[in-house]
Amino acid sequence: MKKKLAVLGATGSIGKNTVDIIRQNPDDFEPVLFTGNTDREALLRLGREFPGVPLALSGGMGKAGVDGIAYYGKAGLLRAVAECGADIAVNGIAGSAGLEPSLAAIEAGCDVALANKETVVMAGPLVFERAGEKKVNILPVDSEHSAIFHLINAYGRENVDRVFLTASGGPFRTLSTEDLALVGVRDALAHPTWKMGAKISLDSATLANKGLEVIEACRLFNMEPEDITVLIHPQSIVHSMIRLRNNAVYAQLSQPDMRLPIQEALYRPETRPSPFGALDFRGLSLEFAEPDGERFPMLPLAYEAAKRGGLYPLVYNAANEIAAETFFREKIHFLDIARIVRYVMEKDWQGSCLNLETILKTDREARRIAFTLIGDI
Ligand code: NAD
Ligand code: MG
Repeated sequence: MKKKLAVLGATGSIGKNTVDIIRQNPDDFEPVLFTGNTDREALLRLGREFPGVPLALSGGMGKAGVDGIAYYGKAGLLRAVAECGADIAVNGIAGSAGLEPSLAAIEAGCDVALANKETVVMAGPLVFERAGEKKVNILPVDSEHSAIFHLINAYGRENVDRVFLTASGGPFRTLSTEDLALVGVRDALAHPTWKMGAKISLDSATLANKGLEVIEACRLFNMEPEDITVLIHPQSIVHSMIRLRNNAVYAQLSQPDMRLPIQEALYRPETRPSPFGALDFRGLSLEFAEPDGERFPMLPLAYEAAKRGGLYPLVYNAANEIAAETFFREKIHFLDIARIVRYVMEKDWQGSCLNLETILKTDREARRIAFTLIGDI
């Protein structure tokens, strides 16, 4: 039987890779929803390619149903997720906007293939509680977490005492702090190994992406931040590793192509041939180095947020989103991003993130405080 698939953020990088998998495997998947935000044309193109599949445009306006788009606005997006009848939703929405659609999918009894790491960073405890009650699976799609998920399933969580989370190091891996002060938007978007959306590309340049992933790993795999080691691995071939109590290390390696972790989540527990070639080890050299927290303070700040727990991870994410948007508008410098996040995290953010209202209220408050500092820069 075909799996019914909702593609949230279908017009983005993860979404396009997911649609590619649907195209390659028409006997296995039936799309039941495509969503986009402001990119109406790209969404309508998907509607023409897959006639009859409902479309939701969360950031646009129009008369639902009249122009080929069935749902409009944020409320429309959430309604679409609730009504689409999917077996599994791939959440490739960028940023904090992905949280409520993840929750809507869970409430609808739908498994979630989760690329949107913000869902876990902002509200991991709430999300896992709801998923447990609704008996749905949260399947990580972030390449590192997909790797760790499979390795842990193979070797048993109880045997794992360390996770090595690999990071490409981004486009500024070798720059000095003086040079980092001068980088611009275009430089930050030139990721060396992965082709991704703008926000995650910038986060890879600041290492905020790896910071978010440390928090994501803590919450997904129930680990302490001190049991997670980030390794700079410029080739992006080793997607992550686990170390067992006996000091044996197991790694997952492949070409850097997001279709693999997406496909793994969609076919789980089966494994299917991937659309790209096998690794050729001839001439391949794999390097690993320690990240530099002085040049890239977004990484130690994430560890701090993970250690403090509660609402700190959410605040780290919110402040970083505001800083990133402001950097994209060229109103602040690259090094200001971490300054803004540190400033917002200095406030007291103890509290439980089991309640959506508290989560959304704290998210707004953190953003407001980030703006007060930006106003002074
Ligand atoms: P992207 O910018 O390419 O695409 C984002 C998608 O989300 C688009 O379809 C856009 O229309 C939609 N969107 C944006 N803002 C929205 C809003 N406010 N409400 C509803 N929809 C909105 O981003 P991406 O690179 O595909 O990343 C998506 C998510 O996946 C992020 O959380 C990212 O961290 C994660 N991720 C991406 C990759 C990758 O290779 N691109 C790898 C790992 C994890
Ligand atoms: Mg990743």
